[in-house]
Order: sequence, then structure tokens, then C-alpha cells
Amino acid sequence: CGIVGYIGWQEASPLLLKGLKRLEYRGYDSAGIALLNGSTLTVMKQKGSVSGLEKDTLVLRASMQGATAGIGHTRWATHGEPSDRNAHPHLNAAGDIAIIHNGIIENYSALKQELVSEGYQFLSATDSEVLVHLIDWIWKQDPLLDLESATRSALRHVEGAYGLCVVSSREPDKIVVARKGSPLVIGIGLGEFFIASDAAPIVEHTKKVVYLADGELAVVRRGGYCVKSIENIEQQKTVTELDFTL
Ligand code: GLU
Repeated sequence: CGIVGYIGWQEASPLLLKGLKRLEYRGYDSAGIALLNGSTLTVMKQKGSVSGLEKDTLVLRASMQGATAGIGHTRWATHGEPSDRNAHPHLNAAGDIAIIHNGIIENYSALKQELVSEGYQFLSATDSEVLVHLIDWIWKQDPLLDLESATRSALRHVEGAYGLCVVSSREPDKIVVARKGSPLVIGIGLGEFFIASDAAPIVEHTKKVVYLADGELAVVRRGGYCVKSIENIEQQKTVTELDFTL
């Protein structure tokens, strides 16, 4: 339902939680965040409100102080009941890749069957969880890949709609995002970038945004961003100036 992301120099968790609150108007049943602190990846998620998550994760977030990158999600369940387990982000078994997803993966049950036959265990009843295991599996087939190319390859097998953010403690200096049928915006700051499913969480930080088009994938780092097509061709993007104030 709602997506936020941040990579920069500010404390990420308060920023992500505030961003999720700006998306509450869309409605949701669960919320979660993943924080990257050096090479530590921590996921906190639960059924219920963003302020519930904020309260219940206070101690854990304190231990993640200094994390300046992360992603956050508010879920509107389509596959699998609203529950702690089904809340996003979803992790791979090693706990070093996390994804959040808006939309519906139409062919998830076929993909899930294949992954289960490869030995993958699913912890949730969502369609979204196949994405993280698929990225993990593809990366395992060719360790020379990076997070970006493993994500791109995974998306070639996927039918359906997605707004997607992927982070990994193996490459903690980036957020990989992709869009097909579900909006994603990148906000451009100074040495910092904001990601969201609409401009509402971004407008208080920067007025400069880039809207991803369907079939585009972007790698966002502290030093800049790069947008490519799913075929791996670099795209020239127009920076749009948001013309409304809060
Ligand atoms: N289909 C996914 C799920 O049920 C994502 C739903 C959403 O867009 O929030 O978990």
C-alpha cells in the first residue's frame, strides 16, 4: 500500500516512521521498517498502526541508532491475513536481503512452488515474499551478480504489479527500487534521497522529484541515483519541481 525509503546522513528510523504516517490516509493494516546500519540489517514489523510500531520498537530502534538508510511499508493485505508475519519487510533465510512490495504478484504460487522445491521456506502467506527468495536464489546461482542485477533478473520472472524496494547488508550503501503498475517517486536532497509511493512523505524534505515510469529500476545511493529500464538501458529522467506546500 505505502512505501517510504531513505538514504543519506540523517537518522533513518524517525524519518521513515514520519513518512509512513504521511501515507496513513491511504489506509493499511500493518506497518514495518528495515534499517541498514553498516552491515547490520534489522527488520521491525507488526500488525496495527504506525504509532504502535513506533512504540513497540523503541528499544530495538535505539540499538540501531546511527542507521542512515532504510525502507518502510504500510500494508493493505491482498494475500494472507493482516498479521505480524505477513507484514512487510520480508527477509531471505540468511537475513541479509529485505524487500517491501506494493501490488500483487500474479504468478506467485507457481514461483513459490519452484522455490519450495529448491528448499526455500516461506514464513508468510503473502504473494510478496516470493520476491525476496527469488532474488536470493538468483544471486546464489551467480555470486558475481550484485543486488541490482539480481533484482533485475528476478523481476523478469514476475507477472503482476509492483512498487518494490530492496536492501541488502551485503551492499549497505544503496536501495534498489523498481516499478510496474504501482507508483514510485524519488526525492532528491543534498547527499540524501527519499523514496515514496507518492509525494506526500517527500514534500517536507525536498521539492525536487523524479517519477519512475513502468518498467524502470533505479539504484539510489548517497552520492546519486541511476535509473535504468528492466532491459538494463540507462534512462534520462526529468527532475520535476513539486509546486505545493504543506
Ligand atoms: N500483495 C501484498 C500483500 O498482500 C502487498 C499489499 C500492499 O500493496 O500493501 O502483502
